[in-house]
Formats: sequence, structure tokens, C-alpha cells
Amino acid sequence: MLPNRNLIEFSLIKSLELNKDFKTGKYDTADLKSLDLEQEFSVALEKKAAVESERDLLHTVGPRITKLKFGNIELETPIFMPVGTVGSVKSLSPEDVYSIGYRLILGNTYHLNLRPGMELMRDFGGLHQFMRWPGAILTDSGGFQVMSLAKIRKLNEEGATFANHINGAKITLTPESVVGIQEDIDSDIQMVLDECTSYPATHAEAKASMERSMRWAQRAREARKNKNRAQFGIVQGGMYGDLRVQSIKELRKNDFEGFAIGGLSVGESKREMRRLLSATMPWMPHDKPRYLMGVGAPDDLIDSIMLGIDMFDCVMPTRNARNGSVFVRSTASANGKMQIKNAAHKASKEPLDSNCSCYTCKNYSRAYLRHLFVAEELLVFRLLSIHNLQFLYDLTEEMREAIRTGRIFEELPNIRKKYAPGSI
Ligand SMILES: [Zn+2]
Repeated sequence: MLPNRNLIEFSLIKSLELNKDFKTGKYDTADLKSLDLEQEFSVALEKKAAVESERDLLHTVGPRITKLKFGNIELETPIFMPVGTVGSVKSLSPEDVYSIGYRLILGNTYHLNLRPGMELMRDFGGLHQFMRWPGAILTDSGGFQVMSLAKIRKLNEEGATFANHINGAKITLTPESVVGIQEDIDSDIQMVLDECTSYPATHAEAKASMERSMRWAQRAREARKNKNRAQFGIVQGGMYGDLRVQSIKELRKNDFEGFAIGGLSVGESKREMRRLLSATMPWMPHDKPRYLMGVGAPDDLIDSIMLGIDMFDCVMPTRNARNGSVFVRSTASANGKMQIKNAAHKASKEPLDSNCSCYTCKNYSRAYLRHLFVAEELLVFRLLSIHNLQFLYDLTEEMREAIRTGRIFEELPNIRKKYAPGSI
């Protein structure tokens, strides 16, 4: 049964204050050592005291649970969103994805616009009907793919003109045309077109790029015809905390239904990413969903959830699965990873992870999965993808539960040790 949908409804269920607890020493800061809070975060807090006019813009930061509702689809965050680039989470049926527990997946505007194209999408009444997905859909804006996949011909104030990666035909994407494409897809959450700042970039380059993205965000907001779907603005600013703060302030002038953080996980170190998140989060509106784009490694999820991120997406779990690489709890492998093709699994009757409740672990041995992988049997892609997506679902579910019961600060060391032992 396909859902009845309407504009996203957002409510805050539970919010814990990281900075307050951090300052009063309620929990051991050693547990948070991979969060690089000290520098940028304390700058923001000092500013809170110093700059009276900006006081209302700053928020306490910490892990939280929120509810997102789209008509009869309801879900609680923090959540990971599987990526269904061209209208399919690779190797999985919508039922596979739904039965793990996922209710919100990602589609790629750039890819869907090229294939199958918007004429067919309109004819089917949108992507939900086309792929028969009973949950909600978020579509990215295509900005990242334009920069990374296409051969750019021209990038100017109007938009991006490029030769597409399939047949080389010339296409122009503008903030307005991207809104139109996403309205044809009829996604529940639509992203504005942004210019993905190159990495590395100087402060001046990152500033010019961010400012263009902010002008594009304004145009995208004005271009909407269907105001019954959510539209998220995207924070840019490269690796510069001050530019990211400026970007948020610009985006706040438009009443976007949510705020995404873009331009991270583009090659910077994990330490750098945490530093920038720490600088950014106090300025993010408290009463809107917060989405960290393109991030999905277990240790990155854990640390970002602690800072108050609600939503994530990444191709990593399904891409890794297709390469035979699976996430496992520390009880199954000391570093949290397993490569199924290793000879050590040749005769193993064990499941991938004996503490995993997924369909694959309930039914199949490592030896069988290794055999399928070595024999290049397609079934292995599905089975390993189910497991990796279940792993991230379980990680976020465990964090949701710990936040809900107010025990997250006590449970954090155990969660980190269990799901991201390689990061300790
Ligand atoms: Zn499993």
C-alpha cells in the first residue's frame, strides 16, 4: 500500500544538552575524545555570552530524538537513510529495505533526470509509484554529482552546464530546474541546488562558492510550485567555521523545513570534520531537522549524533557489501570489519555476526556467503547489503533508545566499543 503523504511535520521528542554536561563534567570527557569540541565549540559558547544580538541564534548542542511525519509515514531520528541512486537501493527490493525498518530512502535527482527521465516520472505520478516504495523519499539536488561525475562546460550564476556521464549530451541545471525535477519525482524532502565547494579551497574561494550557493538557495525557495513538500537548505563554507556560521544565518532568512550540512566528507580528516561540526551545530536551528550529507561510517554517525545531527545518508554500506566488506560488532571482529572473501571463512558455520538479527545472519553461514562471493553469485550482493543496512539501523536504534532513556552519556563508551571499535 503506497502512503498518503503531506508536508513534513517535525517535533522534538527528547533533547540532551552536551555542552552543559560537558562543562559540568557530568561524564568523562575521555569518552568524547574523538569529538574535537574544545576549540571551535568554545569559541561559539564565548560568543554566546559576548554577542547579545546573536544570543537567540545559538542553541545548546547534544544528542536528540525527533519525530518526522509525512502523512501516515512516521519515523524517529537519528536515522540513517539508504541510498537508492536510480530508484533502487542497489541489489535490494523495496520490501527488503522496508523490512529492516527503514522508512526514508534517498534518490538522486541528477541520475533520475537522465534515466528514466521526467516524462516517464510524471506519467507514473512520481518515484514512489514508479518503484513501489511505501516509505518516504528524500532527493538530493544533483549538485554533488554535477561536480563529481559530469564534465562541466560552464558554471556561472545561472547554473551549471555540463556533458552528462551517460551519453555526453549537454544539460543545464539551475536552482529552478532542479526544483521542477524534484517536484516531478514528488519527493517528500527536496534539496536546493548548491555549488559543492572544491576541496581544498582557500577562504576566498570557499566564501565566493558559499555565497553563490546561498543565492541559489533563495532562488530555489522562490521557485517552488508544490508547497506541500519539504525543502531543505544546505550549509556550505568549505573547511571554514566562520563561513559555515555565515551560511546558516543566510539560510535562516528563508523558512526552510530543514537544514542540511553539505561539503563535508569530501577528503578532509575525521578530526577536521568533527571540528567543523562542533563549530556549526550551535548555530543550527533547534526546531528543524538537521541532515549531515554523505556521512555513514559508524564512528562518524556516533560522534555526529552526539552533536545533534538527526539524519545521514551514504553509499558506504551497500557499496562495501558489493565489495565483500561488512560491518560487524566488536564481538565478531576486533576492528569492526570483516572481508568475506578471506580464506579464514572458508568452512565457517558461524553467521557474519552472531549478535545481528538480520535475515542474512539468521539464515546463512560465513562459508556459504564466501562461496557465493568467490563464485560471483549475485545473491551475495543482496545478502551482504541487508546485513550492512541492518547494522547501521541497529546502531541508530541503540542510540535512540539510550537518548530516550537519558542514558546516552553512560552508554556511549559501550556503543562506541561495540559498533566502532576501530575508532577507539
Ligand atoms: Zn546480519
